[in-house]
Amino acid sequence: MLKSGQVVVVATGNAGKVKEFAHAFAELGMEVRSLRDFDGLPDIVEDGDTFQANARKKAKTIGDALGLPVLADDSGLCVDALGGAPGVYSARYAGEGATDADNNAKLLRELKQLAGAIGDVPASEAHGVVLYGGARFKCALALYDPEDGTFMDAEGAVEGRILSSPRGEGGFGYDPLFWLPEMGCSMAELTMEEKQAISHRGAALRELFSQLRKKV
Ligand code: IMP
Repeated sequence: MLKSGQVVVVATGNAGKVKEFAHAFAELGMEVRSLRDFDGLPDIVEDGDTFQANARKKAKTIGDALGLPVLADDSGLCVDALGGAPGVYSARYAGEGATDADNNAKLLRELKQLAGAIGDVPASEAHGVVLYGGARFKCALALYDPEDGTFMDAEGAVEGRILSSPRGEGGFGYDPLFWLPEMGCSMAELTMEEKQAISHRGAALRELFSQLRKKV
């Protein structure tokens, strides 16, 4: 059972994510460690069919190895016109070791090909930019407690459209191609604070903590 004063490990080495998670756990009097604080942890193959399955696998593998509660996340982009791709393959859409630029280039190639093949169906114009069809970033979180083998799950999403060319310098991954219709800008044009307030990861974190507050 998780309690105040507990150490929780976040299964990421990404400094931005660690900061975001640590801030949330501090509110419940819990202390956060990250993967950077431990050596010799097992490698994890993210081969699940869903973001939640991957998050659970990461949390359980690290949690059982350390004997500490672990929070893990998995996230990615799902594009309607591509049947939900790249989905769980978001990080390696253009192949193993692909860079963000490689993945973004592949996404645009696929959508342009599709738009050419079926007419201009998924493309439209707004705010002077060409947009492809609907898409969403999704994030799944899993908090695993090795003491009793239980999981707490949460999911969050943010809806948008795919831009026909990149905009903005901020964020990472597919952010420059992700248009937020209600804000009239791309995800990469937001400050970090603005992005956290609307992002899939922020939404999943808020959902997880509303469950956790009832238990701690
Ligand atoms: P991970 O769950 O952090 O490993 O993310 C998997 C992949 O999904 C990343 O490599 C990005 O390509 C994509 N992704 C996840 N979250 C975001 C985001 O907030 N912005 C842009 N791309 C993202």
